[in-house]
Amino acid sequence: MNNKDKKIKPGIRAEGGAKKVPVGLTQEGLEKLLAKDAAITVKELEEQADELAASKVFEDDPTLKQEVLEANLRLASTGLAPLTWGNVSQRDKSGKYMLIKPSGVPYETMDTEDLVLVEIETGRKVWGSKKPSSDTNTHLELYRAFPGIKAIVHTHSKFATIFAQLRRDIPAFGTTHADHFYGPVPCTRPLTEAEIENDYELNTGKVIVETFEDKDPLAIPAVIVGGHGPFTWGSSAKKAVDNSVALEACADMAWHVLALDPDHPPVEQYLLDKHYFRKHGENAYYGQ
Ligand SMILES: [Zn+2]
Repeated sequence: MNNKDKKIKPGIRAEGGAKKVPVGLTQEGLEKLLAKDAAITVKELEEQADELAASKVFEDDPTLKQEVLEANLRLASTGLAPLTWGNVSQRDKSGKYMLIKPSGVPYETMDTEDLVLVEIETGRKVWGSKKPSSDTNTHLELYRAFPGIKAIVHTHSKFATIFAQLRRDIPAFGTTHADHFYGPVPCTRPLTEAEIENDYELNTGKVIVETFEDKDPLAIPAVIVGGHGPFTWGSSAKKAVDNSVALEACADMAWHVLALDPDHPPVEQYLLDKHYFRKHGENAYYGQ
């Protein structure tokens, strides 16, 4: 008699398991049953771990959901992200997760329960019934590379996007710019065809990181992606949206300056220094 066809005696316990084997089950059937049980258990365990992780995130950071929802709704109300072109995300207190806008949900009906919690290191969704924003992989790459940033905003705001389409940095022409960005806001290099074909959103993040190899993302909390549009960041979702509003105002003014004088020089370094450092860094005194 083949070992696999051997009937297992009723009442016997499976090796290492606590389940009673049904009467008359073959060895093969038992193996199948155990394999099926094990698969369910691993999945269930993962789900339970995610649920626990998410409830800890929301317990430790009770305003996170509201802050991210409000920042997304405010972004919509600024007109900087018509239709559903924009998105806002924010890290949780532990820094391991980000909460981001869902994909394709209209702003009018968007609720805190539509948001999606994603583990930054792995990109795995750990909470939420919706799909995360299609730009999720760009956000994740920026959080991984720039540990000092707390929140990220993406828009297609008109004047910043004009500079992105021209593939030109936004020059620092005055104090409005200097108050927010310490130097020109850089434009990334164009992505290659291969970078666009595969992992486009991740590569968008990588090209931004590459653009900041010799720059401090905390001193210049904005970038424009060539042929695409701007990303800004900040110490909270609210601050990151503020930076999107400031960037659009600066791009609008810079466009007009260049229209009147295409060779207009940037603001003097000492004026840039004065305005930036009176608001930022350890010697800041403005608005404190
Ligand atoms: Zn976009």
